[in-house]
Amino acid sequence: MRIDVITLFPDLFVPFQQQGVVRRAFDSGAVNLKLWQLRDFASGNYRRVDDRPFGGGPGMVMAAQPLMDALSAIRADRAEPQAMQAPVVLFSPQGETITHARVAAQAASSQGVILVCGRYEGIDQRFVDRFVDLQWSLGDFVLSGGEIAAIAWLDAVARLLPGVLGDADSHLQDSFNDTLDGLLDCPHYTRPEVWEGRAVPDALLSGNHAAIAAYRRQQSLRVSAHSRPDLVDEARRTQALTPADEAFLAEVARSSQT
Ligand code: SAH
Repeated sequence: MRIDVITLFPDLFVPFQQQGVVRRAFDSGAVNLKLWQLRDFASGNYRRVDDRPFGGGPGMVMAAQPLMDALSAIRADRAEPQAMQAPVVLFSPQGETITHARVAAQAASSQGVILVCGRYEGIDQRFVDRFVDLQWSLGDFVLSGGEIAAIAWLDAVARLLPGVLGDADSHLQDSFNDTLDGLLDCPHYTRPEVWEGRAVPDALLSGNHAAIAAYRRQQSLRVSAHSRPDLVDEARRTQALTPADEAFLAEVARSSQT
């Protein structure tokens, strides 16, 4: 999957591509990441990519022209037929929040994307109106630039690609996955069996696979009901909850009232 990034800070992406499990996605070419320094598309001696906002106020705004020139260079380099052109995505606090569903859809698709990382107060709205197809947000807070959002998204996509995680199926057991009916993951424990006076739950030491699976399902239901009741509601709506799940949730609700 080819991914192009327009950024003023391409160096931020370099260590990310060289560390941890996701490194495999870049080394193997599963993700072909091309970084485009926006400043290379600025004209004039000072290579300015930003200017003062019309109407006044603090900060600077990224100008539309260098962004359009960078995008034209990327389109020429990708050489895709018009109908198959990769969408242009702007990272923005005003976008739709990045979710597992969106990340998984990207990992399953061979079509790449062109990512635009804003800086300063943001980018000239006329570029957004004309060229941006999608806007994605990392959450309801403001970053100083889109790069960290882009890296977060790239990490989430890359780890879902075949051959990236050591155990091919391990991501299926993670929060939000269909395997968990979209619920949160259960708590995890490792050695020692007793740490600082706290023991690992008996069920996990039983060696009984059915009992372990039942225990993990219950813990997944418990943490989801506590932290993300919306996920439980959604699982119920899609009829993913069994009578045993419902009985356990009723028990959790009763015990939290007492
Ligand atoms: N004035 C803008 C924020 C600009 S922050 C506003 O209030 O909406 C500068 C850049 O950082 C943005 O253009 C965007 O690319 C990036 N950014 C900031 N917060 C982000 C978030 N939550 N998710 C994704 N990108 C973000």
